Amino acid sequence: MEVLGFMSIAEDPRRKVKGRRPPQGTPCGYCFNAWATVYDHLWPYSAGGDASDENLYPACKRCNLILNNRCFDTIDAKREYLRQVLLEKGEW
Ligand SMILES: [Zn+2]
Repeated sequence: MEVLGFMSIAEDPRRKVKGRRPPQGTPCGYCFNAWATVYDHLWPYSAGGDASDENLYPACKRCNLILNNRCFDTIDAKREYLRQVLLEKGEW
């Protein structure tokens, strides 16, 4: 169904990503210690990151929550930040 003048809900890139999940059995790309259940945005949506495959990275819920909307220059910097947080919590 066409909704003239508006982007239909199905075309909303945000919704598309929300509905997408990593395939079952995909490890978290950050801690490698849990199954990925969501896609993390390498460049956060709130900072202009899009929903392209290149910007999505499989993550477990915990890592995704910790990383939240923080911006990092590289994936290694992201991983290192996460490692520090988990080390402090005694979960690494
Ligand atoms: Zn994780």
